[in-house]
Amino acid sequence: MPQTLPTAIRNYAADGHLEIDWSDGHQSRYSHEHLRVRCPCASCRGHTPAQAKVITGKQNIRISAIDPVGNYALKISFDDGHDTGLYDFSQLRHTLCQCNEHQSESRTEEIQ
Ligand SMILES: [Zn+2]
Ligand SMILES: [Zn+2]
Repeated sequence: MPQTLPTAIRNYAADGHLEIDWSDGHQSRYSHEHLRVRCPCASCRGHTPAQAKVITGKQNIRISAIDPVGNYALKISFDDGHDTGLYDFSQLRHTLCQCNEHQSESRTEEIQ
């Protein structure tokens, strides 16, 4: 299956959201807080679901840097100093996306 790649990444630091356009035409949208609390790194997720940390209090978090990693992921750094999250493209495109279309599928998960 061909990899879906980002064609444009727009970071709106002032209102804390990120948009990614994909090579398949989809436009994704994420809040910085959402990406931080769903950080996929080993220290946030643990080695089993039971070890996953519940991350809260990040409403005002901002992305400080976005670095492409190879052709498969973005490394996203946050202004709380956390910079070990590698967000692979399929995860960003399918699992983490908060556009209207995806949010209606995963709304219950967003209520906290
Ligand atoms: Zn993490
Ligand atoms: Zn989407």
